[in-house]
Amino acid sequence: MQLLEDRIRKDGKIREHGSVLKVDSFLNHQIDVDLCNEMGKEFFRLFGGEGITKILTIEASGIGIACIVAQCFGVPVLFAKKSKTKNIDGSVYTSQVHSFTHGTDYEVMVAKEFLSPNDRVLLVDDFLANGAALQGLMDIVHQSGADLVGAGICIEKAFQPGGDLLRQSGLRVESLARIAAMSENGITFC
Ligand code: 5GP
Repeated sequence: MQLLEDRIRKDGKIREHGSVLKVDSFLNHQIDVDLCNEMGKEFFRLFGGEGITKILTIEASGIGIACIVAQCFGVPVLFAKKSKTKNIDGSVYTSQVHSFTHGTDYEVMVAKEFLSPNDRVLLVDDFLANGAALQGLMDIVHQSGADLVGAGICIEKAFQPGGDLLRQSGLRVESLARIAAMSENGITFC
């Protein structure tokens, strides 16, 4: 998506010797709602015919874009919470996720009452890197018996393995900007 690529070139900040892209001025801290609306429309163009009933993302950075995507589809957004309490009464689905940005493992959970076999789910996230966040969400959808339609990603770092691994596993992954390479000298899109 040209609009997003142009914005990344203009305002993205490359960190950690080219492994991390900061987009705090329009997506991850301050949010450009007009840009998010355009991304939402693009996801609707790609997945609008799929009978989606729910958008699923992970807290915290995916929630903003997921809300706007959900509005484009006219369905609720559900976000997996990073859980601090043990699942003792069996009322939640849980999965283990390794955080790319923090280097630690954490558990995410979704209440069973909000995801059922009648749902058709689109995963939405801001970034795709190694794919751990999406794998955790996929695991939760599978536990619920809902249909997993695909994943809509704003920025895929295609030089990391997540996108390829998930596509090979059969998931439809649509990324609006795919970065082939990144260094202090600049960004190359796929
Ligand atoms: P993955 O699980 O695919 O390795 O990483 C996905 C998650 O890590 C995203 O939800 C995002 O929050 C974070 N992330 C991964 N790479 C980047 C990056 O380069 N920049 C930012 N801002 N977040 C990232």
